[in-house]
Amino acid sequence: MVDLKGQYQTIKTQVNSSISQILEDATFVNGPAVKEFQTALEAYLGVKHVIPCANGTDALQIAMMGLGLEQGDEVITADFTFAATVEVIALLKLTPVLVDVEPDTFNIDPVALENAITPKTKAIVPVHLYGQCANMDAILAIAEKHNLYVIEDNAQGIGAKHTFKDGNKVMSGTMGHVAATSFFPSKNLGCYGDGGAIFTNDDDLAHTLRGIVNHGMYERYHHDVVGVNSRLDSIQAAVLNAKLPLLDTYNAKRREAARKYSKAFAGHPNILVPKTVNNCEGICDNCDCHVFHQYTLRILNSDRDALAKYLNEKGIPCGIYYPIPLHLQKAYADARYDEANFPVTNQLVKEVISLPMHTELDDEQIAYITGAVIEFIDTE
Ligand SMILES: *Cc1c(COP(=O)(O)O)cnc(C)c1O
Repeated sequence: MVDLKGQYQTIKTQVNSSISQILEDATFVNGPAVKEFQTALEAYLGVKHVIPCANGTDALQIAMMGLGLEQGDEVITADFTFAATVEVIALLKLTPVLVDVEPDTFNIDPVALENAITPKTKAIVPVHLYGQCANMDAILAIAEKHNLYVIEDNAQGIGAKHTFKDGNKVMSGTMGHVAATSFFPSKNLGCYGDGGAIFTNDDDLAHTLRGIVNHGMYERYHHDVVGVNSRLDSIQAAVLNAKLPLLDTYNAKRREAARKYSKAFAGHPNILVPKTVNNCEGICDNCDCHVFHQYTLRILNSDRDALAKYLNEKGIPCGIYYPIPLHLQKAYADARYDEANFPVTNQLVKEVISLPMHTELDDEQIAYITGAVIEFIDTE
């Protein structure tokens, strides 16, 4: 699904020398590489504060702790996403409220979201799924109207831009009160282990978050709040320092591959290609609204699982993100949920398939992959 070996060969000299430097200096934790990365990412995103941490799941958890959410507060998020989002809500003894998504963008449905608001609702977690921002015009308006926090789960969206209806263009992860991201190796900006970060423009919240990641300490050995231990290590920061300047190029390569995939599938009655909706139709040439963390098709009137098996037999990796709606997962199932409220997620889990997506895909590979998908569907 991803070609990290191929990508490493192109940045090997720099990564190796940065890592060697950290070994020589023995600055493994909170070394200069971490501070350098933090500053570079703040500049790239145009956000006031980046707080590095150990992984994306921690980033979400710490963001919620920093906002002071309390037991029983309801937090609304998408039913169709990776479990980390709902996991941290539940871990903090907040009440997760899962809602349906939109069929074309796979992102949280603002109408379902607003319908789920109760007097206990305190926050919304839009997930920028597969690399495209959720409908932030609508979500921010709903949040303002109901006085709710917005926590962006930007683990799949780093580098994407969102164009608001008024034409204003901003980076994903800078629109809500706070955002969380992951540097897991397969993410668009991935390190060589685990890593994550929290972003915010709020000075007070940033201060609170910096203490929480470090055992609730604001002054050495004074523990003012219950915190956690969540650090980005210097070796991971060194890898990220080498890759951050290449992120836009990497994302452009992903878009290029997506455009070629979509061109090959165009007009096929049983294949729905991903749609970009942030004020551009289709995958336009200069579009930067989608960073294609995943390139995900909907397969209609065909056997998706048999297609996945066929592709694997032909040596083509593929992924099903995600095969089970969160509201049907054992850990998160709840009598409160009504099946009638999840028509889209319940359908998507049967239809979606994600094709290989990374920075090293060439035309020959894309032709082989698209040929195999079409061949299966046309002969099935
Ligand atoms: C990867 C991911 C996370 C979690 O990140 P980790 O670094 O693996 O903890 C959270 N949310 C979404 C949507 C993700 O894709």
